[in-house]
Amino acid sequence: MPKKPTNEEHCSFCGRPASQTMLLSGVDGYICADCAHQAEHIFKEQSNHSQNSQFKLQDSDIPKPTEIKQFLDLYVIGQEAAKKVLSVAVYNHYKRLKYNIEHGDKNEVEIEKSNIVMVGETGTGKTLLARTIARLLKVPFCIADATTLTEAGYVGDDVENVLVRLLQAANYDVAACERGIVFIDEIDKIARKSENTSITRDVSGEGVQQALLKLLEGAEVNVPPEGGRKHPEQKLIKINTRNILFICGGAFDGIERAIGARLNSNVIGFKGDEKRQELDRDNMLQYVQPMDLKKFGLIPELVGRFPVLTYLEPLDREALRRILTEPKNALVKQYVELFKMDGVTLDIEPSVLDLVVDRAVEYHLGARGLRSIMEGMMTDLMFDLPTLPKGSTFTLTRQEAEKKIRL
Ligand code: ADP
Repeated sequence: MPKKPTNEEHCSFCGRPASQTMLLSGVDGYICADCAHQAEHIFKEQSNHSQNSQFKLQDSDIPKPTEIKQFLDLYVIGQEAAKKVLSVAVYNHYKRLKYNIEHGDKNEVEIEKSNIVMVGETGTGKTLLARTIARLLKVPFCIADATTLTEAGYVGDDVENVLVRLLQAANYDVAACERGIVFIDEIDKIARKSENTSITRDVSGEGVQQALLKLLEGAEVNVPPEGGRKHPEQKLIKINTRNILFICGGAFDGIERAIGARLNSNVIGFKGDEKRQELDRDNMLQYVQPMDLKKFGLIPELVGRFPVLTYLEPLDREALRRILTEPKNALVKQYVELFKMDGVTLDIEPSVLDLVVDRAVEYHLGARGLRSIMEGMMTDLMFDLPTLPKGSTFTLTRQEAEKKIRL
């Protein structure tokens, strides 16, 4: 029980008087809330470091690429190429962790980290893939948005704050954080505007890329546990990024042109028309190469830190239709569950789903549009849901759905 101290009493650690903080009494001293909080962090950090040295990875703990892919298939429709590449990259990431743990600093062969870039239109499943992988691996996972990052000292988030989020996701367990996965979205937004280095400062572009480079390479980074700017009195937590896997995603709008130009010039140099005919013009992203990212405005050093490059396909009607019903947590399944909780069986006519897909295609939002369209259609129904008789079945017809969607 906190004892109510008299005015003369001070925190025995920082000296703050009771009038400014709450004190807990000990046998012959006091501790204030701030010092207790800091002490907790220090203890956690130290115990994590000692646990880290005992951390072992059994072969059976490492999911095989086929198992990873099967798990991804439960949640993500299509995107075969990206799933395969990710499965192998994650498998290697684990093997690398195991190797480093077993060999410590005496390893003869340095197995490099396989940070990943995924290129694909918005709403095609980049974040979903990264999130699903983290779920499988049971490692801390966080999502950061590259557009909010700026070079240290400028308005916006310091790049290191990405690690603060991971630390928070790991519940301040430093050892777990150091094996986590960071997904950085919209990495294309920090591209510099032209391939020529600018003489003016580019605080949200090249500067951020440089800062990010440090994290990707594997460095000891001091982060303020609560996030925000570093200040002199603050206790910093040291995080080693050597084993943190970075997965980046971006739409790279217009990169198809660079890919096309490169392929055309290659083709002219070689056999000519034969090759040109083989190109699938509707999905140029499948030919993406690191040099295209460079052309887009990522600095070569950064591109070099992403050995794994993959792409996501645009979602066609069939894929969108499958996304509505097939994944483990498909939207339709979610609504069926919500209705079930009120004792009502929901039955949606198949043609209603075609209608939803039509709208999503119209809005050009990929699968992202599906949710808002469904939500718009279901709101009225869910409003009346609790008044429906228990044990009844509600059938959503095409006619009804058309009325709702038009609203
Ligand atoms: P991105 O990161 O590519 O912009 P997201 O992964 O955030 O897109 O996708 C938005 C939502 O759309 C996801 O939460 C998911 O519900 C759905 N979605 C997108 N692509 C797929 C896919 N290939 N399979 C299943 N659902 C998908």
